[in-house]
Amino acid sequence: MIRIDKPIQEPEVLRTRGRKRRGGMASLYTRFSDDYDRGKKVFTFDATIYGPRSVKKVLTEAQHDKCCYCEAKVTPVAYGDIEHFRPKGKVAEDDAHPGYYWLAYEWSNLLFACQKCNQRFKRTFFPLRDPSKRARSHHDDLSQEEPLLIHPVEEDPQQYVGFYKQEAISIDGNLRGKTTIEVLGLNRIELLEARLFRYRGVEMLYRIARHTEKKSVPPDILTDAQTGLRDAVKDHAPYVSMVRSAMANQFWLKGASSASPGAPT
Ligand SMILES: [Zn+2]
Repeated sequence: MIRIDKPIQEPEVLRTRGRKRRGGMASLYTRFSDDYDRGKKVFTFDATIYGPRSVKKVLTEAQHDKCCYCEAKVTPVAYGDIEHFRPKGKVAEDDAHPGYYWLAYEWSNLLFACQKCNQRFKRTFFPLRDPSKRARSHHDDLSQEEPLLIHPVEEDPQQYVGFYKQEAISIDGNLRGKTTIEVLGLNRIELLEARLFRYRGVEMLYRIARHTEKKSVPPDILTDAQTGLRDAVKDHAPYVSMVRSAMANQFWLKGASSASPGAPT
């Protein structure tokens, strides 16, 4: 996971249809907030408001076509999901919770994720450090919650989740990193394999550019390797958080000095 630079301005459909539906604006629509206050606890949501092409386009651009959690490139092989960071219709940890219905069309709650991260792993999980502080309706104060999952827009995930080679690790054993890795399945076998493939490729570039007798490398190959390395640490590159950890630790190669987070002790 890396930090995502998402536009502050919400897409038009959320500003118009979304706001009317969630409340806070007089309209002809039935509002979620009014429905809840009248006793409704089960809500239905309109994917044409939170997940139309216009919303997805803004998110995929901001996220460089990558899943907000696993950093796999999504759009070449799948449509991907609009993911609700706080689950909209149900909370796995609390059967009686109606879900964060009031955030279903809230821009700050929307991310772009691959189907595996969203549908197979995260689903409706939203663990908190202190479950008694969970917001249960639009009347409650979300700022009282301390989510154990890392929000990739509001904070820098690389402070919590590092890597040892292709394996995601919790930096200094912190609980939020550990929970995020477990809940999102960030060490599932398919991801470990994909990241290993990437790791080996970038390690080879690194060895050519930095770790070999440079005089023995033809100049054009050296230049290509250096260019490849520069590209591999840019936000648009797949699994860049892993690559950055590897670069900081000089790929744990023999003789490399390493004191960066992510190195096993
Ligand atoms: Zn994913």
